[in-house]
Amino acid sequence: MSTPRVVVLGSGPAGLTAALYLSRANLTPHVLEGLQPGGQLTITTDVDNFPGFPEGIMGPELMERMKAQCARFGTTFSYDEVVSADLSQRPFKLHTSNDETIEADAVVIATGASARWLGLPSEKRLMGHGVSACATCDGFFFQNVPVVVVGGGDSAMEEATFLTKFASKVIIVHRREELRASKIMQDRAFKNDKIEFVWNSEVIEVKGDKKVEAVRLKNLVTGEESDLAAEGLFLAIGHVPNTQPFLDFLDHEPNGYLKTAADSTRTNIEGVFACGDVQDHVYRQAITAAGSGCMAALEAERWLESQEEGA
Ligand code: NAP
Repeated sequence: MSTPRVVVLGSGPAGLTAALYLSRANLTPHVLEGLQPGGQLTITTDVDNFPGFPEGIMGPELMERMKAQCARFGTTFSYDEVVSADLSQRPFKLHTSNDETIEADAVVIATGASARWLGLPSEKRLMGHGVSACATCDGFFFQNVPVVVVGGGDSAMEEATFLTKFASKVIIVHRREELRASKIMQDRAFKNDKIEFVWNSEVIEVKGDKKVEAVRLKNLVTGEESDLAAEGLFLAIGHVPNTQPFLDFLDHEPNGYLKTAADSTRTNIEGVFACGDVQDHVYRQAITAAGSGCMAALEAERWLESQEEGA
């Protein structure tokens, strides 16, 4: 019998760990890397909480190493992503942005999640002209000018702390008066002289003609509106899962996260597995994504074996 075709969608820690285990099981998986190969860790700096790197490791390097490890065992890669899929019959059909149709006997969905935006027309208009969702990518352009970071989670604290390397000051605007971020990240931000906080407030407009000049704030307690001068606006308000091509076929939460069986990466369609941030809105860590990628590979391998036995 010929080797079943296993396709992994996504190349973050979940996808690459799945590919590593699948390739070591001689299933020679093919990885569609997505349009951000390596996933979210490629736009971060130091990763200090991935076991095995006592001095920390840069996110992009960690992902390069994971990819090299997969390639060593025969994983193949293409710079492509799924734009639509037919999961109603086997082999599954995956239509990609390169206008190809790939057939697969088993699919591991590890497409992760993307930054959430506020949804303001002015935010869209000034995207790339002062509005960004990636301090690591764009922070360098904001030397000695004030910038605003929106959000109260770990990402907002991390981005704000990073931006203090460049900006004259960083103002964190949060919609409540309590942060969601972990204690250690909060403390780091509170201790930084260049970081200020504006509480109970939301950004209702980004001002500026060709580039960001200020943000209009609304105090959610008093209703008062005011302008805050800033040349950069960094959004760090969470993520939305990249599940659009699969929603017609796979059970999902109202917010788009894929549902998997308890303690498993199995979806409601046999042969389709989901791992990492695409199905996890609770932990969302590189290490938990990698762990669920391993689970997906082992479950796919066992499922393919059971198909062979039943054939
Ligand atoms: P998050 O924990 O979901 O926090 C999102 C923040 O944005 C919250 O404070 C939320 O406010 C706010 N927010 C959401 N929608 C908003 C809107 N429309 N307008 C204004 N504010 C809005 O997301 P995250 O910070 O990206 O973190 C995600 C996960 O990654 C977490 O598990 C985190 O621990 C992890 N992470 C870890 C590290 C690290 O360990 N180095 C770094 C980054 C992220 P509310 O609080 O009011 O809901």
